Amino acid sequence: MAERFDVVVVGAGPAGLSAGLVLARGGANVLILERGEYPGSKNVMGGVLYNHQLDELLPGAWREAPIERTVIEQNYWLMTRNSAVAFGYRNEDWAGDPPNCFTVLRAKFDQWFAKKVEEAGATLITRTTVVDLLQDDSGRVIGVRAGRPEGEVYADIVILAEGVNNLLTQKAGLHNDWKMNEAALAVKEVIELPREKIEDRFGLEPGQGATIEMLGDPSAGMLGMGFLYTNKESLSLGVGVLVKHLVYSGMNPNDLLERLKQHPRVRPLIEGGRVIEYSAKLIPEGGYKAIARLFKDGVMVVGDAAGLTNAIHREGSNLAMTSGRIAGEVALEALAEGDPTSRVLRRYQQRLEETYVLKDLRKYNQANEFFDANPQFLRDYPELLSRMMREFFTVDATPKWDKQAKILRMVRRERPLWRIAYDLFQMWRAIG
Ligand SMILES: Cc1cc2nc3c(=O)[nH]c(=O)nc-3n(C[C@H](O)[C@H](O)[C@H](O)COP(=O)(O)OP(=O)(O)OC[C@H]3O[C@@H](n4cnc5c(N)ncnc54)[C@H](O)[C@@H]3O)c2cc1C
Repeated sequence: MAERFDVVVVGAGPAGLSAGLVLARGGANVLILERGEYPGSKNVMGGVLYNHQLDELLPGAWREAPIERTVIEQNYWLMTRNSAVAFGYRNEDWAGDPPNCFTVLRAKFDQWFAKKVEEAGATLITRTTVVDLLQDDSGRVIGVRAGRPEGEVYADIVILAEGVNNLLTQKAGLHNDWKMNEAALAVKEVIELPREKIEDRFGLEPGQGATIEMLGDPSAGMLGMGFLYTNKESLSLGVGVLVKHLVYSGMNPNDLLERLKQHPRVRPLIEGGRVIEYSAKLIPEGGYKAIARLFKDGVMVVGDAAGLTNAIHREGSNLAMTSGRIAGEVALEALAEGDPTSRVLRRYQQRLEETYVLKDLRKYNQANEFFDANPQFLRDYPELLSRMMREFFTVDATPKWDKQAKILRMVRRERPLWRIAYDLFQMWRAIG
């Protein structure tokens, strides 16, 4: 292993690869260290990747990238044990060029992305875990120690793109471990199904994809959600719940996933499928207040390692790419100015503040606290909505005026109207 690079990037996920690409293109001598057998081998993601951020790095590359399906339909289901109130949006334009987003399997996508980064001139070494940071007496990061003989690598700048298990970020003193209300634990299965079956069941043309986010019953009313995404010849089905709620309820996310697979709305969609992959992982969900300190002398933190995800909008990979790109740009400036200290590296945070990444995290800063303090949104309201819809759609001899009055009485019995209006107003204030 060479012992000195301009920049060492730890982790070859979307954040680390984006940083590596920018640096290699900018002429920096960059080393990316990845603990997995290959990039993507250790990654877990529901699977929706957004084109905008990929296109900023590799214009038009989605056409050759190993994508599964172009998403043309996005749905939300509010679910009870036996029902689902569904709303969604479908637009065939999304099948055009450029698409809005597509599903990916990270084992394939990350390998492809890594190849692009290597072609740009970065050095990627896999099966190598970074076990420590090298810091000088002032606390400035000057390199990393990989878990192999003679594993010390020196660098002007280290970029930590290690994902949610951010042990090195913690060692650098930039973050404490996630608190129970700052992360969700998600489990996911990839279920193999013939492509024609997927297209028939979801009403899709070849190459088109659909997503479903499922609220209420999938998380047993706790703060979390289920998801179901279409791949070429498989479905990605999962459920994630705030760690705090899992601990207090004593529930196991795997049991929730098994329950979800038996839901009458989900079961027919996965019927006959074969589970070919199972994975579990944390998702940082603490909002702006839970993010890591993003830099100090000689080091920057990007992507999940820094807590940059937007759970409300199911966004993480795009925030990872944007933060990696900006960290890469700032590192190039620091190298050019011969100053890898905070004086230059603070530009990373300043620029990130101007983007959707930190603006959105600020916007949803209180989301977890709000839904934690107001469990009725995921517990009671899906039930109430289901009963309202059932009454509305049930045709009997009741005249429609009476039916409306009946629905209103039912709602009032459950929750005064002023209380519902207040809840909605509070929600709008918290996340609107
Ligand atoms: C179940 C689930 C569903 C999700 N669904 C979506 C979705 O649909 N859309 C979306 O945009 N986001 C989604 N996300 C979030 C998304 O996966 C992350 O935000 C994104 O992967 C973050 O990228 P990253 O590069 O920061 O980290 P990661 O992708 O986690 O990559 C980190 C890399 O660092 C490596 N690494 C870690 N430690 C070391 C070390 N010490 N030495 C060397 N290598 C190391 C790991 O092996 C890994 O390859 C989901 C997450 C989960 C868990």
